[in-house]
Amino acid sequence: MYKSIACRYHEIATKGHNRSMFENKLVANMRTLCEYEGMEGLVFQRIRGRIFIRKLKNGIFSSEEMEKMKNVLSRSFGLESFSPVIECEPDINRILNVIGESARGIFEEKLKTCDVVQFRTRARRSDKTFPLRSREIEIEAATRLQEIFGEKIKVNLDHPEISIGVEVRDRIALVYYETFKGPGGLPVGTNSHVLALLSGGIDSPVACHMTMKRGCHVDFLTFHSFPYTPMESVDKVKRLASVLNRYQKKGRLYSCNISELQKLIRDNCNPRYRTILYRRQMMRIAEKICRFQKLNAIVTGESVGQVASQTIVNLSIINDATRMLILRPLAGLDKLESIERAEKIGTYHISIEAFPDSCTVFAPPSPAVAAKFYLVEEEEKKIPNLEEELEKAFRSIEKYEDL
Ligand code: ATP
Ligand code: MG
Repeated sequence: MYKSIACRYHEIATKGHNRSMFENKLVANMRTLCEYEGMEGLVFQRIRGRIFIRKLKNGIFSSEEMEKMKNVLSRSFGLESFSPVIECEPDINRILNVIGESARGIFEEKLKTCDVVQFRTRARRSDKTFPLRSREIEIEAATRLQEIFGEKIKVNLDHPEISIGVEVRDRIALVYYETFKGPGGLPVGTNSHVLALLSGGIDSPVACHMTMKRGCHVDFLTFHSFPYTPMESVDKVKRLASVLNRYQKKGRLYSCNISELQKLIRDNCNPRYRTILYRRQMMRIAEKICRFQKLNAIVTGESVGQVASQTIVNLSIINDATRMLILRPLAGLDKLESIERAEKIGTYHISIEAFPDSCTVFAPPSPAVAAKFYLVEEEEKKIPNLEEELEKAFRSIEKYEDL
C-alpha cells in the first residue's frame, strides 16, 4: 500500500553550511546501495530535513521491494530512521480518511489474534499554520478509529500494539504505522578515504564498519603468506570485504604476500619481536599504498590489551613505523562487544571459519609483551635488504574490485 518512504537524519542536520554536501552524499549512497540490491529507477526527493524515496510513476512498493528497501536503508550511514508512509494533502479531513482506509487492514489483522487491540496516535506538525495542534490531531485520529472499530480497540499510550504516526508539513501530510531504525553516523564519503588492514579475524571487519559509520570510505588491505597459508584465506577476506561493501560504494581489496619478509624476520631476528616486526612492515606497505592512492589514514582492528602485540607499549612501537594516522576504533571494546557487533554486521560467521592467518604462521612461542623500542630497532636492522624486500612485497600486491 506504500508509494513512499520518508527518511529522517539526525547528525547531518547539525552540519550548518556543509549540510547540503552531507545530504547529497546520503542520497547518492542510498541510490548506490539500492542499485546493488537491484532496486533501480527510484526517485529521491530532498524536502526540508527529510528524504522521500518513491518509485518512478509513483508506483506501489511490493512487499518484496519494501523488504529490500528496509535492508538497504538499515545500512545507509547517516540515516536516523525511516518509515513507509502514505502521503496526502495537509488537510485534516483528508488525513482522517487516509487513516480510516489504511488502518482497516492493519487492525483487522491484529484482531485475528486478540479481542481488543491497544493503539495510540502520535502527531507532529512542522507547519505551525495548520489549524490543529499536534495533540488535537492525535485526538481526532483516535476518535475516527474508535468510530470505526468501537469496543475492539483501546488507547494505550505506553504499550500500544499499533502506533499511528501523523506528520503535517507545509505541502503534504504523512500517515505511517512503522518506524525503523537507521544505522546513524555520517554518510560514507563525507570524510576522507582510508585503508583498513583486514585480516580474516573478527575484529578488523568491525573496525572497518565503525570507520565507515564516521563517513570514511574504506579500501581494504590483507596480508597473506602463500604458500605457507592457503589461498582460501584470501578468499575468506574477499567474502568479508564483500559483506562490508554492502555498507558503502564498493571499496577495493589489495592483497599482499609477505611470506618472504616473514621468513627473513624469522631467520634473522629475535623471535620475541617477530609479531611486532611483521606489523611494522605491514604498516610500511600500507603507508605506501596510501601515498599512491591518496588515502588519508590506516585502520586496524587492534584493541588495547587484547593480545601481546596490543599492549600500549607494543602498539606505540608498531605506530612508529609510519607517519600516517592510524585509527583503532576498537581500542576500548572488549572481545565480546566486538563479537556482538560482528554478528550484527554479518561478518561473524565468515570470520570464525578456521583458516591460518599470515600472522599465525611463524608465530613466536612467547612474544614480548612490552618490547623495548631500541631493541626492536636493533632487530629490524638485522633484516637483510629491508627496503628492497618491502618493495618486492609491494610489487606482489594484487587488486580486487567489485567484490
Ligand atoms: P582480527 O580479529 O581483526 O584479526 P585480532 O584480535 O586477531 O584481530 P591481531 O591478529 O593481533 O588481532 O591483529 C590486529 C590487527 O592487525 C587486525 O585487526 C588487523 O587490522 C591487522 N592484521 C593482522 N593480521 C593481518 C593480516 N593478515 N592482513 C591484514 N591485516 C592484519
Ligand atoms: Mg587476527
